[in-house]
Amino acid sequence: MAETLIKVDLTQSAYTNEMVHNRWHPDIPMACWVNPGDDFIIETYDWTGGFIKNNDSADDVRDIDLSIVHFLSGPVGVKGAEPGDLLVVDLLDIGAKPDSQWGFNGFFSKQNGGGFLTDHFPLAQKSIWDFKGMFTSSRHVPGVEFAGLIHPGLIGCLPDKKMLETWNKREVDFIATNPTRVPPLANPPFPSTAHMGKLKGAEKDKAALTGARTVPPREHGGNCDIKDLSRGSKIYFPVYVPGAGLSMGDLHFSQGDGEITFCGAIEMAGWLHLRVEIIKDGMSKYGIKNPVFKPSPITPNYKDYLIFEGISVDEQGKQHYLDVNVAYKQACLNAINYLTKFGYAPDQAYSILGTAPVQGHISGVVDIPNACATLWIPTEIFDFDINPGAEGPKKFLDGSVKMPISPDK
Ligand code: ZN
Repeated sequence: MAETLIKVDLTQSAYTNEMVHNRWHPDIPMACWVNPGDDFIIETYDWTGGFIKNNDSADDVRDIDLSIVHFLSGPVGVKGAEPGDLLVVDLLDIGAKPDSQWGFNGFFSKQNGGGFLTDHFPLAQKSIWDFKGMFTSSRHVPGVEFAGLIHPGLIGCLPDKKMLETWNKREVDFIATNPTRVPPLANPPFPSTAHMGKLKGAEKDKAALTGARTVPPREHGGNCDIKDLSRGSKIYFPVYVPGAGLSMGDLHFSQGDGEITFCGAIEMAGWLHLRVEIIKDGMSKYGIKNPVFKPSPITPNYKDYLIFEGISVDEQGKQHYLDVNVAYKQACLNAINYLTKFGYAPDQAYSILGTAPVQGHISGVVDIPNACATLWIPTEIFDFDINPGAEGPKKFLDGSVKMPISPDK
């Protein structure tokens, strides 16, 4: 059995764990070291460090301080890795912690984080998903069960000083274009809740001033939230610092393309079994700037989909020029409206799009003025037939099961 190099105790605050951090900074010391060719196990908190609880209230989703996220395990140093190399990471297996066989999905309040459809779902809501082996279902969203497509929402290597400066400058400059926006355009460094692993004292305080937040995906990968980066995948990461410094977390039991609900997929605490190798000077050899990856040989085998189209004309009827964001939003809203005809509340339908292995495709980006995006819902995840027919939709759900909601204070 491979050695567990980083352990997390879900009964303890993530801030007490020196092998965990919640900012990106080259000064964060390696939590541990491995050799190329080694395989090993890393445990992780859920992305909020255990703040969201397995209960029937969305108060925790409403009240969370989002400057604490994401709690990442690492950085793992790989001996011999140098800037310009590629770090090859095999996700040999991923699972939930044995003492934590559940996950959560939620919508943040528009006042605290928001989400893709926050104008339609402005209040904090939550659904809890229980794991039964490789399957999941929710006591808050009836009529649906699906196989997990387990993946790390967030994984990548430490930036070097120059890359960190680039990130901070471009994001702070961007925020300055509309500093009072709700939700904000981006999240600048925020020292008071920074956790920098083994870095302590004055050195920690100094680094925390510029420690990049973990929210966006960036050149190194990071919070990409790619559902297909699932167990069995092989990822090639750019290396910027000696030892690479691989960190990971934000494990998802399952997620729809886009992670549209933002809080988020089915979020869970768990473990990853990894193997690492190095391709010397691989970044220039292959012309790689952002990570590339190969998919798993094993994925949930859904063959039948009902596919919703959306175009870049928004809810107010306003025309947008080839805007895939607007088009995908319309595809999602069309799917939610459709699912309500079978008895789902709109929030439950939104939750399904965020959690189930729903596919999102950019279908057309050249036919001016409209982009076309499509949302693919696997029909086999439902307990009943969701296909259109001459007899019209049948209400399979009576509306008695509801998702917790917490009004803003
Ligand atoms: Zn997540």
